Amino acid sequence: MDIYDPNAGGSILVYEASEDDTNAAVAAAKAAFPAWSALSPVERGSYLKKLAELMLESHDELSQLEALSMGRPVSTYFESIVVAEAFNHYAEAGFQVLGTSSLNTPGFMNMTIRQPYGVVAVIIPWNVPLLFLGDKAAPALIAGNTVVIKSSEKAPLTSAKFAALVEKAGFPPGVINIISGHGQTSGNVLSHHMDVRALSFTGSARTGRLIQEAASRSNLKNVVLELGGKSPAIIFPDADIEQAVEETEHSIQRNSGQVCMANSRIYVHESIASTFIELFNKKFAAVTMGDPLFPSTTHGPQADGIQFKQVQAYIEEGKKSGKLALGTESTEQKNGFFIRPTVFLETPESARVMKEEIFGPVVHINTFKEEEEVISKANDTEFGLYAAVYTNDISRAIRMAKRLEAGTVGVNCTSPTGARDMPFGGYKASGIGREGWTVSIENYLEVKSVLIKVKDA
Ligand code: NAD
Repeated sequence: MDIYDPNAGGSILVYEASEDDTNAAVAAAKAAFPAWSALSPVERGSYLKKLAELMLESHDELSQLEALSMGRPVSTYFESIVVAEAFNHYAEAGFQVLGTSSLNTPGFMNMTIRQPYGVVAVIIPWNVPLLFLGDKAAPALIAGNTVVIKSSEKAPLTSAKFAALVEKAGFPPGVINIISGHGQTSGNVLSHHMDVRALSFTGSARTGRLIQEAASRSNLKNVVLELGGKSPAIIFPDADIEQAVEETEHSIQRNSGQVCMANSRIYVHESIASTFIELFNKKFAAVTMGDPLFPSTTHGPQADGIQFKQVQAYIEEGKKSGKLALGTESTEQKNGFFIRPTVFLETPESARVMKEEIFGPVVHINTFKEEEEVISKANDTEFGLYAAVYTNDISRAIRMAKRLEAGTVGVNCTSPTGARDMPFGGYKASGIGREGWTVSIENYLEVKSVLIKVKDA
């Protein structure tokens, strides 16, 4: 049965996992591991393919559930398609798991073999839940691991629907376990659990640190952390200004600014600043704010009251340090927590709003004169997820790409531009490890050296 029927008008129940429920999910994953890991990659892949098919069939329902859950406009929903692509990709990727062999030690034929960890925990945020669920669970599963996935308490609906699809796809019981619940309860159990051998997390830097701490206090599980950002976009005078406006605006407006890699700081060369800012403000102000279930809406509310208040507080603080150039009183509307697109100018680099992740449609635009100056401003943050540079000077672009402290640098493009075969992850406090189609399977495999003594004839 569908978990959401827009015509039924009923409420949706999501059960919160207790500590016992979470332990039971890990126990089920542990019990399912021997049989699942013994299957061939083709057999495991066939389940993943079936799941991809069901995700695509459920596109409309998933988009409505995300709109209800965290306010994402249905007009901008794409995850079911991207996640289905990921499941289809990994369904074929199992044969990539190979070891090495060596005759370099006299009297031996040695080799490495790659083996799944066992139970992998996946903890995801609320902003684009299924995307992260798929990017983590699909490679873990094809490598032969079983998984326990914890959705965010703020956005559990698409993960609950995903659980129904897992059942429909016919996965053996215990291979994929999905729980919803708060971090302090179920998340905490997973990160401390002695039977969880690897944990992949996407979320805030604060929680990432807690998970790293829990891993070191328990069984030193392998941890992958994809955390927050304060991404700079730098616009030089020789850039295509209209393109830069178009893309930097999209980066900070998308999902109402609730995107880890959004370019929340823009540095524009002083010689083009007035033109850039005028065009940017015009475009940023032109969103269609409203009910995320309406097809015409391009700008939904923040995910909930807590996020709304947090962004509001940063805007109030921003007014004290910088100059408000766009945005007004953000009104708490009857049906949601809407924040208007907001632009600040001339904010001192040392201000808290220039250092911390606001996670809303709020951007700080500052000017610069020299290349060296803007590199030092852009790097003056503990985050390092994504940086962008717009210029038509190839040497300058390469110099900047080398010096910017970020896991991804976009040249004449900005986030969310990505590439499936490029690793994604953070420098500095933006994370540990990398994810992507060419690297993720590695996150879920141990390496074993097998030394084989060979008798001389
Ligand atoms: P969050 O850290 O508050 O929560 C993320 C998940 O962690 C949730 O499922 C939550 O229940 C769980 N959690 C909370 N406390 C926990 C604990 N003590 N132990 C274990 N789990 C716990 O993050 P959020 O508010 O859901 O998401 C927004 C954050 O995620 C932003 O900082 C954003 O930048 C980041 N993010 C990063 C990426 C990336 O790829 N780098 C992508 C999207 C979002």
